[in-house]
Amino acid sequence: MESKKEKTFKFVVVGGGIAGVTCVEQLSSQFASEDVALITAGPHIKAVTNYKQVSRRLEEFDVEEKPSSVLEEKYSNLTIIHSAVKSLRTHTHCVETADGRVFGYEKLCICSGARPKLLTQENPHVLGIRDTDSAQEFQKRLSTAKRIVVVGNGGIALELVYEVRRCEVIWAVKDKAIGNTFFDAGAAQFLIPSLEGDKEQAAAPCKRQRFTTEEPAPDASGSALGPDWHRGIELQGQTPKPDTGSWPVYVQLTNGETFGCDFVVSATGVVPNTEPFLHGNNFLLADDGGLQVDDHMMTSEPDVYAAGDVCSACWEHSPLWQQMGLWTQARQMGWYAGRCMAADVLSEPIDLDFCFELFSHVTKFFNYKVVLLGKFNAQGLGSNHELLVRCTKGQEYVKVVLSGGRMVGAVLIGETDLEETFENLILNQMDLTAYGEELLNPDIDIEDYFD
Ligand code: FAD
Repeated sequence: MESKKEKTFKFVVVGGGIAGVTCVEQLSSQFASEDVALITAGPHIKAVTNYKQVSRRLEEFDVEEKPSSVLEEKYSNLTIIHSAVKSLRTHTHCVETADGRVFGYEKLCICSGARPKLLTQENPHVLGIRDTDSAQEFQKRLSTAKRIVVVGNGGIALELVYEVRRCEVIWAVKDKAIGNTFFDAGAAQFLIPSLEGDKEQAAAPCKRQRFTTEEPAPDASGSALGPDWHRGIELQGQTPKPDTGSWPVYVQLTNGETFGCDFVVSATGVVPNTEPFLHGNNFLLADDGGLQVDDHMMTSEPDVYAAGDVCSACWEHSPLWQQMGLWTQARQMGWYAGRCMAADVLSEPIDLDFCFELFSHVTKFFNYKVVLLGKFNAQGLGSNHELLVRCTKGQEYVKVVLSGGRMVGAVLIGETDLEETFENLILNQMDLTAYGEELLNPDIDIEDYFD
């Protein structure tokens, strides 16, 4: 493969999702006179737009799919190669693409994302949603569907069951409460009325959801979608007709119940896209199958970095941070990986970026603003924690996680306006024992109090 090298680039980044694009932009601008390449399977790239710093650690932005020419016009030293990477030879520092071309690199960053973990492979009645193509396929199938079964309990499943209209949705959840990736049972309870209520009377005359808390007995190459992936896509089924008793597919749950449906949406998590890179190399993989990276985003292979959903952060985490497959983290990791690659080339030292100090995420679920901070679900704390909760039905849900009298996490649902104060309280680790439940007293202006 070495002898066939078409060109050697200083930096090669694989993947046109948020992680890859952020990384390649960082490198192309910092090394304006060096050759940089982005190799990506799809025709489009994901671009961050409307970036807004909400507080010191919380950021919000939109993600837009754009033609890759936008990037090439911005950076004259950047070449975009539209083909999937088929193989990697780390000892000769080159990658081969599906169209048979070979490119050399000095430093490589793998940002190939992840793909849905499907309940069963190659069953035409089981869909995973990952990219624009699969979302469109879902929409097409939904337009003639009377009943679908959604399996899974993460963000995608939550959004789906909320957005789908004119189609019966059976939601199979193996946990005791909905949305357990993001919430505890209390928050789930707060959100459930949004599912049961008529969000839009006219548009949803036949909306019904059925919850079941058991799991059924048991390839996309575009970028992963992100928040608002369903916006602009009509998620409407066919108005339910009487059950004819004959469905294209049946799902049997571990509680013994069987449901027929038009198709199944498998939203049970993702698997990192590592395969093309593994053969012939010695990458260390984490338990989730991701490429292990250290605190400089370096994999176990020399000169190979990784960022976003394809990697597993294997450094010793701050006690207030955890990795989750989210847009914000894909951007942060891509940017930091670019800076680490640059520091390496320039033999400069670099410290772990402060964005990895505190987990922070802003999103929307069921039309409520949701802010998650630190160990928001008491992750890894065992019984060594205390919870304070304030809830006003239909308006707000505030949960604080305390450990040793200090705030280590929070869930804020609704317009609580508490994010900045809580972020500071978590970061400064002030002993809050003396305040007790007063911390959430709605009559106290907590922002003023801790200023
Ligand atoms: P991706 O965006 O998956 O990009 C990977 C890129 O690599 C793609 O361009 C692909 O074409 C390319 N590629 C793959 N293999 C190869 C190869 N062999 N050769 C060359 N190129 C390759 N996150 C949130 O923060 N909030 C949300 O509300 C949210 N909702 C989501 C809803 C859905 C339906 C899905 C699927 C995900 C959602 N996510 C959400 C998660 C978020 O989209 C991902 O965490 C994020 O996009 C990961 O970015 P990435 O750059 O690592 O990977």
